[in-house]
Amino acid sequence: MSKLRLSLKELLYKKILLKKQLEEKMSKESILKAKNDYHAKKRPRPCGFTVHSVIGCSFRCIYCYIPDMGFSFSSAKPYGLTGEEIVYALLENPYFLPGRHGSYIAIGSVGEPFHPVGVNKTMEYVSAFSRYLGNPLQFSTKMYISNELAKRLASFRNISISSLITIITTEKSHILEPNAPSVASRLESIRNLKKNNLHPVLFLRPIIPGVNDDEISTILKDARRYGAEGVVIGGFRVTREILERFENSGLETSEIRKRLKGKLAGNKQISIYTRDLKEEVVYEAKRNGLVPFLSACCANTYILFKKFGYRIPCAGLDFAEGYFCTNCPVQCKNIEVVVDVEEIKHYLKKFFNIEEHDSVILDSFKITIKTKMYKKLRNRVQKRIGYRILIETAYRKKLVIENE
Ligand code: SF4
Ligand code: SF4
Repeated sequence: MSKLRLSLKELLYKKILLKKQLEEKMSKESILKAKNDYHAKKRPRPCGFTVHSVIGCSFRCIYCYIPDMGFSFSSAKPYGLTGEEIVYALLENPYFLPGRHGSYIAIGSVGEPFHPVGVNKTMEYVSAFSRYLGNPLQFSTKMYISNELAKRLASFRNISISSLITIITTEKSHILEPNAPSVASRLESIRNLKKNNLHPVLFLRPIIPGVNDDEISTILKDARRYGAEGVVIGGFRVTREILERFENSGLETSEIRKRLKGKLAGNKQISIYTRDLKEEVVYEAKRNGLVPFLSACCANTYILFKKFGYRIPCAGLDFAEGYFCTNCPVQCKNIEVVVDVEEIKHYLKKFFNIEEHDSVILDSFKITIKTKMYKKLRNRVQKRIGYRILIETAYRKKLVIENE
């Protein structure tokens, strides 16, 4: 079993030093702009922060949810902050932790990060993250990554970059992704990333029941042949508008409708049940020599391990409950995390105001607070979810509240 010492106190100290360093270089206007930016305030997702280097997308994939979120489906534009400003905005965010032990950063989510209008901005951000932060990075893309671009990405030697290349169909790409770069060019991206030791991973999301699930075996084989090392297998969420786009394109949606996990209403995203399909893909991926992941943050953790031989439990804590853990070579469960109990108690008091008589119990994967005020504390922790994620990321342990 390998051992790793983790400390929130050290990460917060590092954050202060980095902010000071940037304040000496940046203008007052730049600092103010960064402080007021969305990235300085938003709450993280359970396994990290999404950073938008490009807003909007013109590829109009019919399964895309960005128009439902209010982003443009006809044009893309680079984000308005400079590299140093985006770093400062993240450091200003109370829930962000810098460094290799810190928060995971995913570039993208409301646009295509390597869209021609935004590729320079994305590279500017990657460069700034490498220079100042060192956090594990991830991006997903459908754009062609040339050998030259892959070389530039590989030149950031101090950070791990998890590159996810999206391919979900070969036969129906003209219907599902009419304006996106060809699947052939995406396979070439995998080849170029592999050539530059960037350990590319296939991004097989979304799996769309009744639409692309019959093509998966071929996609896995092709991706493997071009050099993919793993595959992130992801489900599908729909809105009313997405389903309309499917039906207007002549696609059969009865299987999707059968698997809806909730009622469609407005632009609310509803998940589709795909667990059975995902399990089949996990099996098929292993047969084809790919490491399967059921969550993108696991791929991030795996790439950190591949690049530096460095094992740290996944920030998404999938190993703690096991539902999304595919037992990849990182083997999070076999890493002993050494923490200072007094330090943890200090931060639990600070963020959640736990009482003197509440007891804090540590075990391999959990920090359990036993309290007589169960409901009150549970609600407080729920309201301060950002701090919960901060604690869980720093110590790689799940925070659990129990009735005493
Ligand atoms: S490439 Fe990505 S962001 Fe652009 S339309 Fe397709 S799914 Fe949406
Ligand atoms: S061991 Fe499990 S939880 Fe850890 S990174 Fe691998 S798949 Fe994810």
